[in-house]
Amino acid sequence: MKAALVLSFDSNSLQQQAHEINAMLNHTGTQFSNVELWLFYKDRKPEFSPEIFCPLSGIKLIQVEYVHLPESYLDLLVALMGQCPMDLLLFTSDGLGQELATRLAYRLNGSSALKVEDCRLIRDTLEVIKPVYGNNLSARFVLKSSPYCLSVAKQPFHPVKMILMELLKIKTILLNQTQPWWVKEHLTILDPPKTGLSNTDLVLVVGQGAGNKKTVDVLKGIADTIGAEIGGSRPAVMNAWIDINRLIGASGLIISPKLCIAAGVSGTGVFSVGIKNSRFIVAINIDSKAPIFQIADVGIVGDLATILLELEKVILTDKNKKQVHHIVESRIETQ
Ligand SMILES: Cc1cc2nc3c(=O)[nH]c(=O)nc-3n(C[C@H](O)[C@H](O)[C@H](O)COP(=O)(O)OP(=O)(O)OC[C@H]3O[C@@H](n4cnc5c(N)ncnc54)[C@H](O)[C@@H]3O)c2cc1C
Repeated sequence: MKAALVLSFDSNSLQQQAHEINAMLNHTGTQFSNVELWLFYKDRKPEFSPEIFCPLSGIKLIQVEYVHLPESYLDLLVALMGQCPMDLLLFTSDGLGQELATRLAYRLNGSSALKVEDCRLIRDTLEVIKPVYGNNLSARFVLKSSPYCLSVAKQPFHPVKMILMELLKIKTILLNQTQPWWVKEHLTILDPPKTGLSNTDLVLVVGQGAGNKKTVDVLKGIADTIGAEIGGSRPAVMNAWIDINRLIGASGLIISPKLCIAAGVSGTGVFSVGIKNSRFIVAINIDSKAPIFQIADVGIVGDLATILLELEKVILTDKNKKQVHHIVESRIETQ
């Protein structure tokens, strides 16, 4: 089977996206006769490539003019598939990857699946495994028509290394590109600034249980005191209590800190997938039957504000913020 891994060099998350594609390649039991990296870029031809954990038969560097228009990539991908047809295309886990996987499959009469964790070629079909029902179950789907266009599942933060292109076989493809006639103008809204959530040791995640913005602002102060990054469940983000780039869960970030404090979140599957890779989870909830307690290492039944203010007091009397990290760390080590 021939496969192409489709990545965008200009993406802020290129190294993480490559890691997610690597995770999928590691899982799959399918043998590939040929794997190519198709790397899109806008202005400067890339000199580095993300590390891919399988032998690449080549890299195609593809210049794309309108980086925020899926149509631009689609036209180029259709042209490329005409020149060098592939059986499988792996796209990134983000919105663009999901959109391209779906729309390219439609244009090429193939099949698509999103958030795929594993895939296997079984006779003339491709079996894919992906989470369903809010990440509570894994399901197998059988895709019957190639090309198979898959967007891979998100993975905990683990960016891959970048490697000098000169060390790899490269074939550069430059295709002519025109803006679709029906796009009269376009406006680019820049991504919000990146947070430190993905690679920090301590995270406080706040849910709907916080009740209002005023309480969340108090919790943000507590997060500052204890040296934690703040994250939010979907309602906390939708209520505009917390920035959208701090959303935790299947639709947002998957984090893996040493300690995650989940306060006032019920613990639905789509949320829990975002924190379950944390080394140690403390859950605070007034409802002793809340599902979050099933994934917590320590559960505290009570009001989140009271408990977190108490924690802040303990830390403030300790006076040394750095010592808190140390205490937390040594407690985790002894578990
Ligand atoms: C396709 C899809 C994708 C989704 N993706 C995500 C996602 O990525 N992330 C996400 O978070 N959600 C996501 N959701 C929404 C998800 O299903 C839940 O609705 C959401 O996670 C619930 O958030 P919550 O736990 O903050 O709120 P709730 O479920 O309302 O839970 C609030 C909790 O706070 C507790 N509580 C109340 N008062 C207090 C108090 N004073 N002190 C302590 N505890 C208190 C309550 O007992 C309750 O358990 C998605 C849904 C869909 C359909």
